[in-house]
Amino acid sequence: TLPALAIVGRPNVGKSTLFNRLAGKPLAIVDDRPGVTRDRREARGRIGDLELRLVDTAGYEDNKAGIEARMRAQTEAALDEADVCIFLIDGREGVTAMDERFADILRRHHIPVILAVNKCEGSKGEYGAMEAWKLGMEEPVPISAAHGEGMGDLYTRLTGAL
Ligand code: GDP
Ligand code: MG
Repeated sequence: TLPALAIVGRPNVGKSTLFNRLAGKPLAIVDDRPGVTRDRREARGRIGDLELRLVDTAGYEDNKAGIEARMRAQTEAALDEADVCIFLIDGREGVTAMDERFADILRRHHIPVILAVNKCEGSKGEYGAMEAWKLGMEEPVPISAAHGEGMGDLYTRLTGAL
């Protein structure tokens, strides 16, 4: 069976965009409203010659009360079935309090975590990529899920982690 990759992080960092890029076709619903995704989706995905089962954590990304508790549950469920995880943050926003709480969740699981800093096309995420070090994880990987930048580095880290 294929290794399972969970893509986790707070709403609106670009999880579905990355999922769709790796899946090669739009399966998760991406919307310009912050954090909109309808369902948790799974698909077969590929990066370079590495084939993966992709697990997007979505659903509950609205602004209703209790959203964070439900996102936490969804994230934990995805992590339980994953072999490796990409923890996505937004390089333009930098590290937020919610990112810090996601980092705490990830530290309690025992799968490898690759910290990817999204929205870094051009040099726009440079500050966020530097700030990401403060999450205390391994070297952050700057990427642009929308523009396909940084996919080679992501591939290197994924193959190293599996
Ligand atoms: P999710 O809530 O984490 O699944 O995030 P989405 O994939 O739905 O993306 C949230 C917003 O960020 C959308 O408006 C995307 O178009 C935008 N976005 C995603 N990836 C990138 C990127 O690499 N660069 C930029 N500039 N915007 C992005
Ligand atoms: Mg989404």
